Amino acid sequence: VLTQLEKKLGRIVGREYVLTGPTVRSVYECDAYTIHRFEPLAVVLPKTTEEVRDVVQLCIKHQVAFVARGAGTGLSGGATPVGSAVLISLKRMNRILEVDLANRRLRAEAGVTNLQITRAVVKDGYHYAPDPSSQHVSTLGGNIAENAGGPHTLKYGVTAEHVLSIRMVTPLGEIVEIGSSVPGAPGYDWLSVIVGSEGTMGIVTEAWVKLTPNAPCVETALAFFSETRQATQAVADIIALGVVPIALEFMDETFMRVVSEAFQLQFPDGAKAFLLMEFDGDQEKVKAELSNAVVTCKKHNALEVQSAQNGAERDRLWFARKNAVGALGRLAPSKVTHDGVVPPSKLPEMISFIQAIAKRENMTIANLSHAGDGNIHPAIPLDDRNPTEVERMERVGKEILTECVRLGGSISGEHGIGVEKRDLMALSYLPVDLEFQQQVKQIFTNRSELCNPQKVLPLEATSNERKEPR
Ligand SMILES: Cc1cc2nc3c(=O)[nH]c(=O)nc-3n(C[C@H](O)[C@H](O)[C@H](O)COP(=O)(O)OP(=O)(O)OC[C@H]3O[C@@H](n4cnc5c(N)ncnc54)[C@H](O)[C@@H]3O)c2cc1C
Repeated sequence: VLTQLEKKLGRIVGREYVLTGPTVRSVYECDAYTIHRFEPLAVVLPKTTEEVRDVVQLCIKHQVAFVARGAGTGLSGGATPVGSAVLISLKRMNRILEVDLANRRLRAEAGVTNLQITRAVVKDGYHYAPDPSSQHVSTLGGNIAENAGGPHTLKYGVTAEHVLSIRMVTPLGEIVEIGSSVPGAPGYDWLSVIVGSEGTMGIVTEAWVKLTPNAPCVETALAFFSETRQATQAVADIIALGVVPIALEFMDETFMRVVSEAFQLQFPDGAKAFLLMEFDGDQEKVKAELSNAVVTCKKHNALEVQSAQNGAERDRLWFARKNAVGALGRLAPSKVTHDGVVPPSKLPEMISFIQAIAKRENMTIANLSHAGDGNIHPAIPLDDRNPTEVERMERVGKEILTECVRLGGSISGEHGIGVEKRDLMALSYLPVDLEFQQQVKQIFTNRSELCNPQKVLPLEATSNERKEPR
């Protein structure tokens, strides 16, 4: 039996694009952070910006919350329909609308996958630089909302540096355009406020993004170490050389074990960590930079360094890194990937800290890291139906993120705050900072808490009761 709301949503987007029934809706009860789950009131799949606007206006009329969803690969519960909310999936808005090679830019709908953008221009010698490891499924809208990073953003920068303008439906149900299709729009930079706002300040429906020319030469190497500390110290030293690799990725023993079991990969005997290094640019410079990095690894007693001579070999060197996260499923029914960041020189200390916690708690914590920018991803395999395991994961996660802040880093490198780390924002901000952030949000929401509620800011900061506008 359809609810009144479902019937009205069906009139906007077409009956078949409103998903009904608890079984169907339960597929959408969380993103890739599975700890908190809420079945959405309805799931709706609009096809145009105008339909998104009409859905938002209907939600406002009925005073029900609404949450944007891309591919649901978020790792901090950003797309979880907390409480009772309508989930607005952008997956049908998946067209590339304009390719403007002369000006190195492309316009696409929010539901295109990240990789779709690169695939559209690769034959012309371009790519879209932000490359989260979820890039074959995660969407442009989700990447904008999370300000996604990825292995290659060490050199090229995160999503914020590659978005020129957006079309968006505001939390008040208006269609607005923010930014400019050429860089450097005058006036206050609202685009930077929206990018990374995790869907709490509106629903992005389209964007102009920058295209990056492919480099003439790319060199990749994989260095294996018998001790984790040798690898992390090599990272700190490579960054201190002043060279900027496009990628510098670290993986520990646990990830190496599960990925080798899952895909029958062979690593050198005694290897307990690896570093994947990639440089791009002019051939001579790239070769010199890679050679310096390899010398640094050898200085830290690398067991073996493998290098790629062609594209197929490069794919082989990347294979373990690209497929590691899924392989962790061999250890437990679920996992939580924490996300923090420290200055790269502190990486050795940080990874040792995490290993000491794992030992103390007698638990598995597998470490992956976009090491070049100090972005750590300690992953905890667990059974998320077991409250004791969940409590321990949260306690340990807090301890790790507290240490990140103490070492001069922060509680999120790229996965956002969502519902997962909302209450940890106080590790990085004073109450007055959080209150100011809430006031910035109110520019877009006009004090309404219907747009992706209970995310990013702690609940005290989002309570409208005790605040007057300043
Ligand atoms: C295996 C794996 C690897 C990953 N690797 C990386 C990585 O290397 N780097 C990285 O940064 N992240 C990574 N992630 C995390 C995740 O893929 C990114 O955060 C991604 O940007 C989420 O995109 P999505 O389309 O899945 O968004 P969702 O998960 O659907 O949503 C994420 C957030 O964006 C909001 N949102 C979605 N679409 C819109 C829209 N159109 N307008 C406004 N708000 C919107 C949602 O409300 C939510 O708050 C990884 C995740 C997985 C599972």
